[in-house]
Amino acid sequence: MRIGVLGAGQLGRMLALAGYPLAKTFVFYDMSGSPSAGLGEVIIDREGKYLDDFLSRVDRVTYEFEHLPVEVAEKLAKEKPVHPCPRALQVCQNREAEKTLFGELGIPTPQWKIADSAESLKAAAESLGCPVVAKSNTEGYDGKGQAVLKTPEDAEAAWESIGHPRLMVEKFVEFSREVSIIAVRGEDGQLAFYPISENVHHEGILRYAIAPAPKLEKHVQEDAERYIKALLNELGYVGVLTLELFETANGLVANEMAPRVHNSGHWTIEGAMTSQFENHIRAVSGHPLGSVEPRGLSCMINIIGEHGDVERLLELPYAHVHLYNKGERPGRKLGHINVLADSYAELVWRVRNCVQFLPGSPEFSSSLSSNRKG
Ligand code: AMP
Repeated sequence: MRIGVLGAGQLGRMLALAGYPLAKTFVFYDMSGSPSAGLGEVIIDREGKYLDDFLSRVDRVTYEFEHLPVEVAEKLAKEKPVHPCPRALQVCQNREAEKTLFGELGIPTPQWKIADSAESLKAAAESLGCPVVAKSNTEGYDGKGQAVLKTPEDAEAAWESIGHPRLMVEKFVEFSREVSIIAVRGEDGQLAFYPISENVHHEGILRYAIAPAPKLEKHVQEDAERYIKALLNELGYVGVLTLELFETANGLVANEMAPRVHNSGHWTIEGAMTSQFENHIRAVSGHPLGSVEPRGLSCMINIIGEHGDVERLLELPYAHVHLYNKGERPGRKLGHINVLADSYAELVWRVRNCVQFLPGSPEFSSSLSSNRKG
């Protein structure tokens, strides 16, 4: 079976790495002009001229990034099975549609309002109560196109700095930590849920993901499963879906969803019986899903901007190094390291040992560490 992947970055690369043992082959469709998957066939098509060619070479289509026109996915879906469905793309490209769907399905969200001018942004900040977070309603990712308003008087400057005609304005959530749940749904409706991970960000970029999230109460995992299950079933979803959440004193609050394999699930490559990548390929191909049981305690460390001392990292017996074959650039995801351990204390020790060889990495700070920020 030939799987067509829209997008050709590291997520596509890891999908292919997981799909080869199942005898899948891959054709990537790249619109950026700089594919990095480095595996399979790549069609570079900045002007959208070779979609038919792409389609003729594949049996099924999936995607590894969600910023592609919904019309493209819809056009493809008329010819070949496209998983997940284009509606999932549509929802997650538009924060208003996403938060509306969450609300309809009983998934808690921050209180929110839409603003379409500096005046209505100010009014939204006044009615929600500051602080609020204003985000471009479309085209935002990794915290880009966002501003925090400490008082309604910040509205003018925030409107100018975001520079987008329509904003999602959210009440600022006082969370204890950021977490995510990754789930997968098969073609026959079979469901599987990975344990929640605790996600540590630095300057808007994920740095560490710890799974299963430490000190997580059982009902919190159950709540997250109920929320993501509602989304999967409502969308008739096939493949891996990620739901990013805030953990608060009053339970989980949903931030956003990603209709794909996710950086916070890279730990599953060595840390779970079946990785998120293999399960996505299984689902998209119509196979039964694999076990999502963790193999131990995991921490994923992102390699950002510079590679660090890879030779020394490779010497550590517990460090599973994954490199994406990308050039160094500030803020760029170049690879990740998965560390497994039998106890959280051992995990923290191993993670700190890895981090010393990653200059520029923020100090490891999480609910496990005493130096925790915030
Ligand atoms: P997003 O692009 O929506 O994922 O937001 C990027 C980051 O901004 C999140 O990972 C949070 O750290 C922070 N953030 C977003 N929305 C809120 C909110 N309503 N309250 C507090 N922090 C937020």
